[in-house]
Amino acid sequence: MRTTADAVVIGAGIMGCAIAHALAERGLTDVVVLEKDTIGRGATSDAAGGIRQQFSTETNVRLATYSVRVWESFRERFDQDISLRQQGYLFLLTDPAEEPVFRRNLALQRGLGVPARWVTPDEIVEINPHLVLDDVYGGTFCPEDGWCDTFAATIGFARAARRLGVEIREETAATGIRIEGGRVAAVETPTGAIATPLAIVCAGPQTRLVGKLAGIEIPVDPYRRMSFVTEPFDALPPTLPMTIDFATGLYFHPESSGFLFGMGDRDEPSSFNKTVDEDWLIQNVEALVARAPAFENANVLRGWAGFYEITPDDNPVLGFLGEPDGLAVAAGFSGHGFMQGPAIGICMAELILDGAAKTVDISAFRPSRFREGVLAQEHNVI
Ligand SMILES: Cc1cc2nc3c(=O)[nH]c(=O)nc-3n(C[C@H](O)[C@H](O)[C@H](O)COP(=O)(O)OP(=O)(O)OC[C@H]3O[C@@H](n4cnc5c(N)ncnc54)[C@H](O)[C@@H]3O)c2cc1C
Repeated sequence: MRTTADAVVIGAGIMGCAIAHALAERGLTDVVVLEKDTIGRGATSDAAGGIRQQFSTETNVRLATYSVRVWESFRERFDQDISLRQQGYLFLLTDPAEEPVFRRNLALQRGLGVPARWVTPDEIVEINPHLVLDDVYGGTFCPEDGWCDTFAATIGFARAARRLGVEIREETAATGIRIEGGRVAAVETPTGAIATPLAIVCAGPQTRLVGKLAGIEIPVDPYRRMSFVTEPFDALPPTLPMTIDFATGLYFHPESSGFLFGMGDRDEPSSFNKTVDEDWLIQNVEALVARAPAFENANVLRGWAGFYEITPDDNPVLGFLGEPDGLAVAAGFSGHGFMQGPAIGICMAELILDGAAKTVDISAFRPSRFREGVLAQEHNVI
């Protein structure tokens, strides 16, 4: 167990593992990752696994597009099967005010090489013939989008990082960040301190708490989101795309031999409440059956709650915090972080080692934007 390190990463979710791996690939192998629980069991394992390129900000489209290429080659590069299913993302639109916004986003996405397109109700029927479309006037579809196994992906990064010399210490929380002379000097744990000039906060929904260890407020707050899976169910084909009712946030996609579905309660305040709410399950099922009546015959196998890690503009906080020196953050992905893990790993390694990210310019997501009042609002949040 190291007592000194070139860098200490706090949190072994998709971000901590992808960043540690990217740093090690670039030659910074004297890295310790601290995880209070076990690898990949935070927000990452609660995610629906969705991978999409349909965003409204250029930075997010570029991060997603880069990441899709990595997900497609993950098995070969990391010797890890992630059960990738590129069956597309279908957005259903019911509010006419959304059409110009989605068409503008499509132009942005297509300009960056994303094969997304506008779809009419007739075309939606061809893609997913099992929907009630009375109130749907159109939508967008990207056949390259899909979903995969988030835990397998995180383990893939973690194993590859360990092979390069990174130490990932599970069941070891960061309990303090020691500052000396205005810069990071050590990260403290219950089993001793690790002297380091660089701490990278990748603590997902707990990021604000970890920032406070250094006396810094990082604007990332936890919001409960519940997901449910059905028992094996063959009334709908397993080839359907991820289907999203944009107005309500209802989504569903095939999962194992059943379906995964969920819907965010956008009125619920921030909390660390991780219980599953039966009333919310009923509202989810009602919305699901109203949109896809075949679900009337499905049985819910189980449900779980996790946390979106939300920032004031629904985009992550990426980079150095300014003061103290040596404190960086990659967190606050506001419910769309898993899919961007590969690109964030590379970009954060570039930012740390070269002073700026080149693979994708992530400066729009710099921590100082909140203080500067230059927010980078993402529209396509589910
Ligand atoms: C219901 C749901 C559905 C989602 N669906 C999708 C989706 O379809 N697609 C998508 O891209 N994203 C989705 N997300 C969002 C996605 O899960 C997150 O954006 C992403 O996993 C964030 O990764 P992370 O590594 O930043 O955080 P986490 O996975 O939470 O990792 C942070 C880690 O830090 C650890 N930690 C915290 N405090 C400390 C400490 N003091 N010391 C040491 N370790 C600490 C935690 O234990 C945790 O393991 C969803 C989220 C939820 C809840």
